[in-house]
Amino acid sequence: MQPPGDAQDEDDRLADLVDLGLLDTAPEKRFDDITRLASRTFQVPVALVSLVDRDRQWFKSRVGMELTETGRDVSFCGHAILGDEVFVVEDATNDSRFADNPLVTGTPRIVFYASVPLHGSGGHNVGTLCIIDHEPRTFSADDRSTLRDFGHLVEREMVTEETTSALALLKRTEARYQASFAQAPIGMAMVGLSDEKLGEILEINEALVELTGYRPDDAVGRSAQDFVHEDDIGALLQGAAAASQGQLEQLDREVRMVRADGKEIWVRIRSRRVEDDTGDRYGIVHITDISERKRFEAELARLALHDPLTGLANRRLLMERLRFALAGLSRGDGPVAVLYVDFDHFKAVNDTYGHEAGDTLIVEAASRLAGTVRTIDTAGRFGGDEFVLVCPDLAGLDAAKGVADRLSEAFTKPIDVGPAEVTLTLSGGIALTDDQNADPARLLSAADEALYKAKRAGRNRFELAERGSLRELEG
Ligand code: GH3
Ligand code: MG
Repeated sequence: MQPPGDAQDEDDRLADLVDLGLLDTAPEKRFDDITRLASRTFQVPVALVSLVDRDRQWFKSRVGMELTETGRDVSFCGHAILGDEVFVVEDATNDSRFADNPLVTGTPRIVFYASVPLHGSGGHNVGTLCIIDHEPRTFSADDRSTLRDFGHLVEREMVTEETTSALALLKRTEARYQASFAQAPIGMAMVGLSDEKLGEILEINEALVELTGYRPDDAVGRSAQDFVHEDDIGALLQGAAAASQGQLEQLDREVRMVRADGKEIWVRIRSRRVEDDTGDRYGIVHITDISERKRFEAELARLALHDPLTGLANRRLLMERLRFALAGLSRGDGPVAVLYVDFDHFKAVNDTYGHEAGDTLIVEAASRLAGTVRTIDTAGRFGGDEFVLVCPDLAGLDAAKGVADRLSEAFTKPIDVGPAEVTLTLSGGIALTDDQNADPARLLSAADEALYKAKRAGRNRFELAERGSLRELEG
């Protein structure tokens, strides 16, 4: 046998052979029909479809042959595939290349051999259709032509098989993909990214049905944005457009979704762009419920800005609201008042009825304070029995005094603290400004000073901030 022309050629040839997916597979009627017909047509005892592997020849179909394979080094077919023509050895016993070949001297006693090379889809000779006799034979030009025709029949079957095996593989892969998509424990959707189907839901899995309450019939064919909160659509569309144009491989967004039952949930959407070999583009989207985390974050944010006992704004939030109120002055809003409030003799309640009763009192007092102000006002607790109100856009000084009067009135009714009913009075300081450059901290301390003045003056009253500490306002 001659060595193969070139190692690279041989690698390509073997790849062609492997691509057929025929090596070591079970016998098949469609090949056996051809070898049987060839054996009858040529009146030979042996006909084979031989595939020439790296080190062996293996018979996909065999008539009159016990062996399923032989070494490549002794094979006639290994020799035959080196050429592109029908290869004939009329009498191997008289041919110097084969006379001492064990397949000639021993079983299966090859004397006459004729074969036609078989081409894989890459054009390489992957094997042969061969016929063998135990007697010398002559082989006419007609015989060669007939053998070539048989060869084509085998090739046609091989390629069909190749196509079907590729299809079968694709189907298997698809089936596996479908199963993993359908049964994934995480919500999944396939969303179109091609120009015609941008954002269209192509498929959803069971976990997503469970998460959203939408059945495939409700969702498939609709636009993904139909299910997203309108405030979050923009960010999502931007991502989808970038993914469609190939500028974005992966998308990771947190958006609100409206479920089938109308409930709003927070979800994290992660999408990977896929382009199949037909050029079709789509996103494989994972959707997870993050509502619990969002609730927790919102609670943390609330705690960071609110007093835990009363739920009122804490100092940080109140100062933020005060800065915001002062900024309104530049837009032409009315003056801003800060009312600094402290209960009179609060400590006595603690001392007489206990700290718990004191807490009850603070909670109720906070609720009354918050209940007297407008929605645009902010009531905050600065700690202890100190509360601050920020009232933006007032009509003037009288309006600020009106707020103070309403506060005092709100406490004429006694508060039930458990062991007793307690009537609280409060003292307060009012600072008012219409100066858009007013310093919030200074405004606050002016109100605090006025409060101190009210305490000194006998409590249960409101005092205005000192003249000169603020721009004077006429009520
Ligand atoms: P004044 O009229 O001068 O304001 O007298 P006061 O007794 O109200 O004294 P002050 O405002 O200086 O102190 C407030 C007291 O409130 C101090 C403390 O005993 C009590 N207190 C502070 N924070 C809490 C709290 O969260 N719960 C309870 N139960 N009591 C508190
Ligand atoms: Mg007090």
